[in-house]
Amino acid sequence: MSEAILDILDKLKKYNAKIETRGSKLKIVSKKELPQPLLKRIKQIKSELIAKLPPQEPCYACGDYNWWLSIHNVWVCGTCHPPACKGLVKYAISKDLKCLDEVMH
Ligand SMILES: [Zn+2]
Repeated sequence: MSEAILDILDKLKKYNAKIETRGSKLKIVSKKELPQPLLKRIKQIKSELIAKLPPQEPCYACGDYNWWLSIHNVWVCGTCHPPACKGLVKYAISKDLKCLDEVMH
């Protein structure tokens, strides 16, 4: 993970806040109001944060924890929506993630 991300996660911890990724969106969960400079920095590296932080929860549809990150920086459930081909996958949590073209051959 890049230093910028670690720094932000560290600061969030101090505020007892956390970041959750939902598809292509970032959600900041915090009871206290966070300082503007911190929020600004989070926005600046939003796509990087999404790419580095998989969703913390299992898929709401199937209950599996089988996320894969598409080249468009969106986390997708590999059980509900397997990637069409490996070329779309930037990163997969499960090493057994099957692409549709592999399943069909
Ligand atoms: Zn699913």
